[in-house]
Amino acid sequence: MYNESDQHQEIRDAVRSLCAQFPDEYFRKVDEQRAYPEKFVDALMEAGWLAAMIPEEYGGTGLGLTAASVIMEEINRSGGNSGAVHGQMYNMGTLLRSGSKAQKDKYLPPIAAGKLRIQSMAVTEPTTGTDTTKIKTTAVKKDGRYVVNGQKVWISRVQHSDLMILLARTTPIAEVKKKSEGMSIFIVDLKHAIDNGLSVRPIPNLVNHETNELFFDNLEIPEENLIGEEGKGFKYILDGLNAERTLIAAECIGDGYWFIDRATKYANERIVFDRPIGKNQGVQFPIADAFIEIEAANLMRFKAAELFDANQACGAQANMAKYLAAKASWEAANVCMQTHGGFGFANEYDIERKFRETRLYQVAPISTNLIFSYVAEHLLGLPRSF
Ligand SMILES: Cc1cc2nc3c(=O)[nH]c(=O)nc-3n(C[C@H](O)[C@H](O)[C@H](O)COP(=O)(O)OP(=O)(O)OC[C@H]3O[C@@H](n4cnc5c(N)ncnc54)[C@H](O)[C@@H]3O)c2cc1C
Repeated sequence: MYNESDQHQEIRDAVRSLCAQFPDEYFRKVDEQRAYPEKFVDALMEAGWLAAMIPEEYGGTGLGLTAASVIMEEINRSGGNSGAVHGQMYNMGTLLRSGSKAQKDKYLPPIAAGKLRIQSMAVTEPTTGTDTTKIKTTAVKKDGRYVVNGQKVWISRVQHSDLMILLARTTPIAEVKKKSEGMSIFIVDLKHAIDNGLSVRPIPNLVNHETNELFFDNLEIPEENLIGEEGKGFKYILDGLNAERTLIAAECIGDGYWFIDRATKYANERIVFDRPIGKNQGVQFPIADAFIEIEAANLMRFKAAELFDANQACGAQANMAKYLAAKASWEAANVCMQTHGGFGFANEYDIERKFRETRLYQVAPISTNLIFSYVAEHLLGLPRSF
């Protein structure tokens, strides 16, 4: 519905036509089998869609975040789930912004060509959660390499990636002036690391999302795999969050429209008491309400993306877009489920699958409370509560 002057219509059409080759049955089956949508991801990579934000000099298409967010939106709007691939976009961004020339020359061309996957980023730890500066995983420099020990949790797509960006402490928290200092980020070559200092334990979970516990036992990382300056890794991760939040917001918008489309169609078709259920205001008003929320959230999503593309500060808009879009998609999911009555629970309608998938975004990659906390502190000047 929202018309961003159709400047992205070509992208929308092309992504839609690719996604049309992967209908509901494809994603339903992948979900049932708890498998990874390999063919779908290969098709997206071969078509270059995941290289949208890589500059042309490295073989990408050099599009901005707005265009990239349209790609993610269309995937979710088609009934698919960008959760299988979005890491490729924002992890690449960390390398692009903070990596050395040698690292960019080495990694970005094969990433742009769809031959190298950088799908994973390892930040969260089991004992520290959102309190990231307290992470306990350490990387100690020794004879031209870093030796990593510790544990991570909820690290996604590790089994379907070649590279992972790892956040670890390089200086103990007691020895730094600010707790956000003394952490560093590294490129981990997963094929080399797994069973060679890194063990991976999958976490079965609510959605078909490949995510894992990671155990580091003297994993050795070559010194040249340090990204940027030692000790500044937390800042580099934060620099990437606005793009991540905006892309996730766009995915939620895609989900939201998908739920509204399905709810509307069903409300028009399903006859009970000799009339379409959608004729009842008790059925149509919640759908209209959810639609309005999606439209409003979509404005904030485009605002955040436009500011990002104009190199302007967009932390507030990116956080608010993610909050509004995740809330709107979840409300639309509930309405869609309710509109379908019992059939909403049947796998073959795909609603229960999308319902589970969109629920994740209340929690990850940042939980709703932490967005409230950001807004309260940084926009409203209220005291930090932790
Ligand atoms: C499917 C899935 C995939 C994920 N993928 C990745 C990944 O690839 N890489 C990665 O690094 N992480 C990943 N995560 C982790 C995700 O980013 C975290 O789960 C999320 O940031 C919340 O952290 P937590 O689970 O440790 O919750 P906790 O920090 O333990 O918080 C639990 C609850 O308490 C609330 N809370 C905590 N502190 C406060 C406070 N001070 N004030 C108010 N409320 C508070 C939170 O909002 C939350 O609702 C993933 C998680 C999931 C579920």
